[in-house]
Amino acid sequence: MTQETNPETNPGTDQESNPLFRHFERLYWIEFPLFIRDMVFDDDERKVLVFVDYNRKTTFPCSCGRQGLKIHDRIIREWRALDIGSYQTIIHLAVPRTKCPDCGVRQIKVGWSREHSHFTYLMEERILLLTQYMPLSNVARFLNVSERRVRKVLERFQGGARPPSRERAGPGPVPGIEAGADAKAGDPPPKGAGGRRRKD
Ligand SMILES: [Zn+2]
Repeated sequence: MTQETNPETNPGTDQESNPLFRHFERLYWIEFPLFIRDMVFDDDERKVLVFVDYNRKTTFPCSCGRQGLKIHDRIIREWRALDIGSYQTIIHLAVPRTKCPDCGVRQIKVGWSREHSHFTYLMEERILLLTQYMPLSNVARFLNVSERRVRKVLERFQGGARPPSRERAGPGPVPGIEAGADAKAGDPPPKGAGGRRRKD
């Protein structure tokens, strides 16, 4: 689970080589400059590990709008996504952090999840939907997640907060990251892609 790829020795060479990964990037809202480097099927744990990566030369924007910040350091994070068949799906990324002169050290935003969440948007949406029909403990058991994390999702979206499906209507660029000349053909345009997400 703590495996980390080493792009310094293999900078982006897989990026164009596996068409299946490109399809899964669309399914999971993994967007340029991030890409799937590897997917590992763990039959013992019944899990699919999706390893997301980026070219180490990539610069990122700060959420304040300042562009072109180099990577300060990285924090390994994992997100639970919707299952593939009977296998749990875990998205894994050593999240780059930038050091902005105005804002300090901050994680970049990712397209598949809100800040501080252990789940993807689609997984949170599933949790919210199921809790309308069954007790929280049953939702946790059904999805094989902890009750504490189910409760945190409920607390986050109660009180009139919009559910994730309305914050993010579909695939689109990560806000604040300019898709440059390397952006994949067929990427949707930056504007009108379902609105911007709230800032946590
Ligand atoms: Zn900033």
